[in-house]
Amino acid sequence: MIIDGHNDLVLQRWRGEQPGHTRLEDAPAAGFAGGFFALYVPSPGTPDPPQIPYSVPLPDPIPHETAVATAEELLETLCSLPVARAESAADFVAGRVTAIVHMEGAEPIAPDLSNLERWYERGLRSVGLTWSRPNAFGEGVPFRFPSGADIGPGLTDAGRALVRACNTLGILVDLSHLNAAGFWDVARVSDRPLVATHSNAHALCAASRNLADEQLAAIRDSGGVVGVNFAVTFLREDGANVPETPLTEIVRHVAYLAERMGVDHVAFGSDFDGATIPAELDGIAGLPKLVDSLRAAGFGDEDVAKITHRNWLRVLADTWSGR
Ligand code: ZN
Repeated sequence: MIIDGHNDLVLQRWRGEQPGHTRLEDAPAAGFAGGFFALYVPSPGTPDPPQIPYSVPLPDPIPHETAVATAEELLETLCSLPVARAESAADFVAGRVTAIVHMEGAEPIAPDLSNLERWYERGLRSVGLTWSRPNAFGEGVPFRFPSGADIGPGLTDAGRALVRACNTLGILVDLSHLNAAGFWDVARVSDRPLVATHSNAHALCAASRNLADEQLAAIRDSGGVVGVNFAVTFLREDGANVPETPLTEIVRHVAYLAERMGVDHVAFGSDFDGATIPAELDGIAGLPKLVDSLRAAGFGDEDVAKITHRNWLRVLADTWSGR
């Protein structure tokens, strides 16, 4: 069974495009059991990373009303997919695809949090406080290479209140896309495991979206997890957007994270349909090939089970128990 930290299938379908990576008909043969399905309200003209080095400025904020209207359409799109929706870790079972409703950027949540419970009732179980843009809660990290993530201010008062409210309701708080100051604010405020659903090791690829070793240590110490992102620009040492990147680059990050944090804190966070991934992986159908590569690199049955699904299940169970 494979549980995954991030896909953009909903956005593809909302745009009327056919999925490139997240072809659900391939799920049974690949053992794909679902994971985080992003509701992402698009910023206009998000560029592909240009030539290295690059520094893409943060896009303009998305107004709350616009974000609500679009997110409602995105949720309807998700509900039209042939997937179950996750309310507890036990909802993930072999033989079907289960979706965690994940907001990538909290713009559809009112800054006074007045509609947060309504979103929860509609299935929301995971919130990325920011995408790579500023909002009422904090500031995302701009796409840069090479660069660290220490760019811009931390969480606002509303951001800290949102983290506390998510802890109370049992909504996972996702750190991917958040800048460094925001990351450390969440680490101080949250009483749940720290989670980066789709980010990699900065020591191996110096993209601003990747996690520094101190951040990895904080995630480990909290009992959290990092979902390894399959985007070639966050995998490769040179940060280049090259589809002919071998999938052993994914294994390289898994191995590094397992060495730094322990294998209990590493999982997958594919970014399917949201990024250029290694061509030989191609999507859901290629996941067994990736598992074979993990085994070839020395990961045994127990480790593979943790990386492919057990770590996600543990963190979901620890996070979704509201009070
Ligand atoms: Zn993302």
